[in-house]
Amino acid sequence: RELPADPERGNALRQVSCALYSRVSPTPAAGEPRTLAYSRQVCELLDLDPTECERPEFALVMAGAAPLPGSDPYAARYYGFQFGQWAGQLGDGRAITLGEVVNSKGGRWELQLKGAGRTPYSRRADGRAVLRSSLREYVASEAMAALGVPTTRALSLVSTGDSVMRDMFYNGDAKYEPGAVVCRVAPSFVRFGTFHGPGNGEEMESLLVRRAADYVIHNHYPEIEAEHAGDAKYLAWFREITLRTARLAAAWQSVGFVHGVLNTDNMSILGLTIDFGPFGWLDKFDPYWSPNLTDIQSGRRYCYRNQPEVCQWNCAQLANSLLAAGLVEKEEAEEALGEYAAVLLRDYNARMAAKMGLREYDKTLALELLKLMYETEADFTNTFRALASIPASDDADAQQPGAGGLPAALAAAIPAEKLTEELAAAWRAWLGAWRAKLRAEGEPDAERWGAMRRASPKFVPRQHLLQGAIEAAERGELGELEALLDVLSTPYDDRPDADPKYTAPPPKELDNKPGVCLLSCSS
Ligand code: AMP
Ligand code: MG
Ligand code: MG
Repeated sequence: RELPADPERGNALRQVSCALYSRVSPTPAAGEPRTLAYSRQVCELLDLDPTECERPEFALVMAGAAPLPGSDPYAARYYGFQFGQWAGQLGDGRAITLGEVVNSKGGRWELQLKGAGRTPYSRRADGRAVLRSSLREYVASEAMAALGVPTTRALSLVSTGDSVMRDMFYNGDAKYEPGAVVCRVAPSFVRFGTFHGPGNGEEMESLLVRRAADYVIHNHYPEIEAEHAGDAKYLAWFREITLRTARLAAAWQSVGFVHGVLNTDNMSILGLTIDFGPFGWLDKFDPYWSPNLTDIQSGRRYCYRNQPEVCQWNCAQLANSLLAAGLVEKEEAEEALGEYAAVLLRDYNARMAAKMGLREYDKTLALELLKLMYETEADFTNTFRALASIPASDDADAQQPGAGGLPAALAAAIPAEKLTEELAAAWRAWLGAWRAKLRAEGEPDAERWGAMRRASPKFVPRQHLLQGAIEAAERGELGELEALLDVLSTPYDDRPDADPKYTAPPPKELDNKPGVCLLSCSS
């Protein structure tokens, strides 16, 4: 259980220059660690026998309370633009990489503990994480993977048995909460911010940025290294990052995910969803919704509607850094960046068309749908899922009447009090136009529905569902967590046996409630 005391591994706070990482050791918490959840899928990625995760030693290692044999842990240095402003050195303030596993198929997976104590980059914070935020990250990253959206994964969620003090933003009181650690897993946790050193007041950093780029390209973009000789690889690499980021943003929009903190230090160099903090999935459709209280107070830079543009802005900051390090030329970087919008639109339009059961994206129909959803506070997930059960013909509507004369499934996705006569009429008019288009395309209902259901999930990790699992877990009851993970593991399936609470929007009293639906940055 003892971690080696090694003076070289100082966790002391400092500015780190001319180094991409610092050797650190996890700091054991005071309590008895306990494994609350582990992912069998991630075990498979790691060639890890899942029964290993049942052993008490596993909880110790994954809480940072015992060393992982053979590991040489470190915290990465990176910089960032936070909310559009240069923030200087950030770095892994509470994340510690244990090392990498190369599996039998040659897949490379980095294991990182989040919440295992302070590092040189912890600034004024404690290096810990609470059960609430750790459970959210564990569930959401596994749910994201099941949704088919590129993401970091999570091997385990372990409670530390210790308590951690947090300022509760909604009443200003400090409160002790149970501590926890997530073991995150990804091919790499390198971020855009890793490359920001040069050109931002940091000297002698260009060589380091070049080495970091070489490392990432060699290990994670081998096809680019194979295709491009010399420095030409850097531009090809930047273009690929830009395109992956555009595709990621389109995927988020299509499943209604709002990241909440799209600072450049939270942008994966592999185009993965990374750093699940005050994120959320849309309940009622509001393009200006942000789950992040800090963001809400400062202009909603990171709301749903702004994500695609903000991701592009982040790509531009990455380009500036590569430019400052002499890896790319200005004109060619601008040209690559210029492809972002086209790829984003192509992907977004294709995804929206699929969600609407159309062969071709129809901008008028799509925008009118979103406008109606906004005006009637329709549930994002349930509305698209309802569309996937509506016949092209309106002959049978009378057999399934819902409020406002809408098909029952659709009416159920809209709060009854929002369906005024006028808005119900607008919905009926939209349905008429949409169905006419469906009939013109002529795809049989059953086939169209199947394809639509593969484009629109039925189950997403809604804030209030996560909160239910958190409150139960804080009482030591893990059934809610397990049941939630179960429905989220097959988000596109109908699961008629599933408890209807998993598709219900939040009850009125929890809607946009701080601490449940709206969250603060670091917890
Ligand atoms: P985030 O907004 O979560 O991306 O965090 C921004 C920076 O603050 C990152 O460098 C984190 O590592 C650091 N940070 C966040 N929470 C903590 C914490 N509890 N202890 C130490 N560092 C933290
Ligand atoms: Mg972060
Ligand atoms: Mg974070």
